[in-house]
Amino acid sequence: MVGAALALALAPSGVKLRLLERLPGSLHQRLTALDSQPPAEFDTRVSALSCASQTLLEHLGAWSGVEARRLAPYRGMQVWDGMGQGEVSFSADALHESCLGYIVENRVILAALLERLLAFENVRFEPGAELQGISAPETGSSRRVLTLKDGRQLTSPLTLIAEGGDSPSRQLAGFATTQWDYGHHALVTTVETEKSHAWQCWQRFTETGPLAFLPLAETAGHTASIVWSTSPAHAQELMALETAEFNQALTRAFDGRLGQVSCVAPRQTLALRQRHAQHYILPGLALLGDAAHTIHPLAGQGVNLGFLDVAALAEILIQAHQRGEVLGSTRVLRRYERQRRSDNLTMSASMEAFRRLFVPLPAPLGLLRSAGMNCFNRLPALKNHLVLRAMGLSGDLPSLARRPLVRD
Ligand SMILES: Cc1cc2nc3c(=O)[nH]c(=O)nc-3n(C[C@H](O)[C@H](O)[C@H](O)COP(=O)(O)OP(=O)(O)OC[C@H]3O[C@@H](n4cnc5c(N)ncnc54)[C@H](O)[C@@H]3O)c2cc1C
Repeated sequence: MVGAALALALAPSGVKLRLLERLPGSLHQRLTALDSQPPAEFDTRVSALSCASQTLLEHLGAWSGVEARRLAPYRGMQVWDGMGQGEVSFSADALHESCLGYIVENRVILAALLERLLAFENVRFEPGAELQGISAPETGSSRRVLTLKDGRQLTSPLTLIAEGGDSPSRQLAGFATTQWDYGHHALVTTVETEKSHAWQCWQRFTETGPLAFLPLAETAGHTASIVWSTSPAHAQELMALETAEFNQALTRAFDGRLGQVSCVAPRQTLALRQRHAQHYILPGLALLGDAAHTIHPLAGQGVNLGFLDVAALAEILIQAHQRGEVLGSTRVLRRYERQRRSDNLTMSASMEAFRRLFVPLPAPLGLLRSAGMNCFNRLPALKNHLVLRAMGLSGDLPSLARRPLVRD
């Protein structure tokens, strides 16, 4: 998603781009495969997109492709402490907004981006392409020779790495990361709920980790995507349960808030790791998206941060291109690192603090946590400040992600 968005953001400048993708299949074939899922089946991988991500996708001309496929706007969020009495709710009404964000299947986001890319002749899509080697920069320049696994060699003045958290090219290029295991696996699947989700996101902090229900675009409002972060051993037990037993466990873990829950898709687990690259740039190279930073999904911010990287990096590169600067120079790339790394670090640290806050605590501390949540829930100004930040409607945003001001 992040690599395709960056290619799309840079494409109108006319620079020649190659989009290297490890998976096979031409752009048309990828698009057809993404769009051929039967309508009743939802992708088990979904993202809560912020308003800033929506604005970026609008600027890229890809938002109409998301809307034409499907999306679920959510109007509120209910968060509660399953180990105590604390509860916090957020609502779009309190901000005079129509929604707080959108739940969109990852395959829909990708399809909308790839569809737009078809329009650009200066973007060459290279499927089945994986790097095997990256040379040192040529003397006096940022150009590097990339060796692909199929033996081809490409000379590139600037290589932008958006390969996701396990990025092999990040390692090949010698970027160091700080990382640790969250001790959580995320179990994801699609469910039907007895009661309507009422176009809200729901999250309960359980003894083993957060359990989220995210509304999906199905008109009756009874279909949701779940992300259940829990210990690896518990995730394994949940995977081994028969469907009926899993449904009971899930309904119980969710305090029955949406009534009986029934799983309607295969279950999948993903190991969760925190990772942050110590540097985002080297001469002729830059990291972005999960290749630069991977965070816990509990606040649904991962791809939103990646899209902000895209907006910042595209703006900096386009300006540098117009001024005739060397795009791969550290002088140009450092502007991107300065703009994005501290923001991403702050978000990573906040996710870590949240995760540590919601662990089983001895009774007095547990009561204090519940009291703190209830007190926070009664502070609308502070709540609005935080939620506007998470929505990407406040803070220092790159202009591609900034919503235009509407005058009366
Ligand atoms: C359970 C879960 C729930 C989440 N929910 C949310 C949410 O609600 N909101 C949110 O903002 N974020 C969420 N995230 C985070 C989000 O999924 C990631 O931040 C996002 O997928 C990162 O996108 P990316 O494009 O950087 O990487 P990826 O999505 O990992 O894409 C990497 C791409 O690079 C390709 N690739 C990999 N290696 C190579 C190679 N060697 N050569 C060429 N190509 C390669 C891959 O095939 C793929 O196309 C969630 C994450 C998880 C695990």
